[in-house]
Amino acid sequence: MKYISGACESGFLKSIAIAGVLVAAPMSNSVAGVTVDDIKNDAATTGDVVTYGMGTQGQRWSPLAKINDKNISTLAPAYTFSFGGEKMRGQEAQPLVHNGVIYVTASYNRVFAINAETGMQIWKYEHRLPEGILPCCDVVNRGGALFDNLFIFGTLDAELIALDTANGKVVWKQNLGDFKAGHSSTAAPIIAEDKVIIGVAGGEFGIIGMLRGFDAKTGKLVWERPTIEGHIGTLNGKPNGMTGTLNATWPGDLWKVGGGAPWNTGTYDPETKLIMWGTGNPAPWNSHMRPGDNLYAISTIAVDPDTGKIKWHFQYTPNEAWDYDGTNHTVAFNKGGKKLAGHADRNGFFYTLDRTNGKLVNAFPFVEKHSWASAIDLKTGRPIETGMRPGNPTDSADGKKGTVITVTPSFLGGTNWMGMAYSQGTGLFYVPANEMGMDLWNEPVTYKKGAAYMGAGFSIKPVFDDYIGALRAFDPLTGKKVFEVKNKGPLWGGVMATAGNLVFYGTPEGYFKAVDAKTGKELWQYNTGSGIVGSPITWEQGGEQFIAVPSGWGAAVPLWGGEVAKQIEGINQGASLVVFKLY
Ligand code: CA
Ligand code: CA
Repeated sequence: MKYISGACESGFLKSIAIAGVLVAAPMSNSVAGVTVDDIKNDAATTGDVVTYGMGTQGQRWSPLAKINDKNISTLAPAYTFSFGGEKMRGQEAQPLVHNGVIYVTASYNRVFAINAETGMQIWKYEHRLPEGILPCCDVVNRGGALFDNLFIFGTLDAELIALDTANGKVVWKQNLGDFKAGHSSTAAPIIAEDKVIIGVAGGEFGIIGMLRGFDAKTGKLVWERPTIEGHIGTLNGKPNGMTGTLNATWPGDLWKVGGGAPWNTGTYDPETKLIMWGTGNPAPWNSHMRPGDNLYAISTIAVDPDTGKIKWHFQYTPNEAWDYDGTNHTVAFNKGGKKLAGHADRNGFFYTLDRTNGKLVNAFPFVEKHSWASAIDLKTGRPIETGMRPGNPTDSADGKKGTVITVTPSFLGGTNWMGMAYSQGTGLFYVPANEMGMDLWNEPVTYKKGAAYMGAGFSIKPVFDDYIGALRAFDPLTGKKVFEVKNKGPLWGGVMATAGNLVFYGTPEGYFKAVDAKTGKELWQYNTGSGIVGSPITWEQGGEQFIAVPSGWGAAVPLWGGEVAKQIEGINQGASLVVFKLY
């Protein structure tokens, strides 16, 4: 084999004919970059974690079983890495690891490369944030994507940045919108084939939700897909068709500032070659102003990664009125010989979809209290509403405040941004659920660039005296709840399942815990010193299995949680990555 430096594109092994002889030309970098195949096979390869979701299908499942239900009592920290500085706040990231290097984002758009064996820093990137950014829910970042020699992530001032994994230097940058109008980015991008895909946040500011596909190597914009009907997508700089049909589900002009922000991370399913991405609330929150279903807000849209065309959609909450953003992950899995997808929605219901066409297979509540709807009609896929919508302010005496309702779940959701896990061992989903309610009312509102565009007021409260959070295990086909583990505070971090019959999750009280994947029996816990709102990963290196989880309390609950936040106030801030192995 002959190595031809500089003859490779995008870091892939390419066959190049030279002087009539076929030779394989590997990448010119001294260290192998992350290939499209590495990304597609990520869930099965245990030596690295190169994707958000621990696999593009988003299952947060590892086939590793070196750490298991028999030996977990000897799991202990190998090292703790501090994100340092005065910049703590919520640490919501999921780390990645490749070639013995951990790549992890921290609050305020910092990125660290860390030697995965020793915990020593290799490089640090600190993004310079301008004045006037408008993040809704803390200065968090949920992670990045690896592609070739690039680490790609979004920023609070709405940029998509690719860093060189060797040194943390910026290779390319792209703009995701006007941060002064409320655009921002907190979610990890994903790689689908050779594209990097990312949405944008800002649904509370009346932005238009937009999903974009960029050439991952060069950063060149390939396609844009607005998530609100009436807006026109692009492909290679040319118009590529309207999203939906103008005014079909959005009468009048409000679709022009209609929200639907795809602010969380989606998944990519190579089996159907579809991206599945969730969209947020239609804007404003006051639903009386926008009669109609308001597509494609509060939906999973299945998108062609090459063109950005919507192939199917499923809307969870038509004419949404409670800020039940549909941005929760739509996780691809196969069970009973079917290609399915699971989605635990902020509205309190778990949906099992046929991911080849978006048809509903099953739906069941994963929270105890869901007073806004009694059930999901399995024929139509629509909720059976109880009539518990906040009143129309125009019906009130002074026209300024509609009737207040008390409703469950709260707008923080039955679950939120954090990833549930699917175990290929048990066939169960493990959902980080929360029981919260809210007082909610509507007010008149008009759009003004950069101002909150909600038309609503709220106050969040606990539902039960003894717990708010609960890790719950469900069979996605029958809806049977196999177990639950209650927690005093709300769960706000990602979940991970492993072939060691273990499920890992963190708590605001600081504990990183492992439970038996079949029974929920708690087998191990370790207090990381601050609340956990990040997502764990696991990999193996040098014959040992490692587990890493970010620790650092913050994010949406202390900002917006009202009485819930008061119940758990006093949690110390922190900012670290804790890495464990067996001793
Ligand atoms: Ca892997
Ligand atoms: Ca929202």
